[in-house]
Amino acid sequence: MDVLIVSPHFDDAVLSAGGRIAALERSGLSTCVLTVFGGVPESRTPPSRWDVASGFASAAQAALMRRSEDQAALEFLGSTGLAFDAYDGPYRADWEQDAYSSFLLDAASRARTIYIPAAIGKHPDHVLARDATLHALSTTNSMLNIRVYADLPYATVEGSMAGFSNSSFSATEASTGRRMTLGDVDEVHLADELWTVKRSAVVSYRSQIPELVRAFGDFVMVDSLLRSERFWSLKLES
Ligand SMILES: [Zn+2]
Repeated sequence: MDVLIVSPHFDDAVLSAGGRIAALERSGLSTCVLTVFGGVPESRTPPSRWDVASGFASAAQAALMRRSEDQAALEFLGSTGLAFDAYDGPYRADWEQDAYSSFLLDAASRARTIYIPAAIGKHPDHVLARDATLHALSTTNSMLNIRVYADLPYATVEGSMAGFSNSSFSATEASTGRRMTLGDVDEVHLADELWTVKRSAVVSYRSQIPELVRAFGDFVMVDSLLRSERFWSLKLES
């Protein structure tokens, strides 16, 4: 695999960078999406508020359905998936950084480029996925190219991008001792064909769309909201 894309939940990579993933696959590179909070809670765990609103009777049912929706979405793009076994925020009691670091570094060992979420909107799971990945990468001298993607649909909220800058990485710089330099934004408006493929993939997340639409408006059908993807390069210095 040439390119690894880190996704906090089953849907974030496709919502945020589905056009880029499809374009990479078309250029002959192979991609893999690693979902950080991809674990399936015990079958008796009651569902969170979000999972109840999405129609699920248990946490396990939600996780299994979301995983299968994600597989269908990734198939549209020509990509594949990999899941770390941490639970979604409402179900998670602790975070095992060492286990995540070895899982991530093993997956990334064959890649040339890694994409990580910017955590626009500051969803705690997105912040954790971003910073935990940077922590893992900071322990190596890997030559991986690091790219950061703007989280969609969070980045469509007016003003949400305002706080995102090099200073968003200062806590991680302090705890890892590595200097991080964010490059200029690269905003890509998807051409018709890539947009069609991305939209087909996005509608695979059938259980998630109603609640996302309630929170963010009709971002799937309105042509512009998911069609612009934003990326930055991130340099990790010693
Ligand atoms: Zn998410």
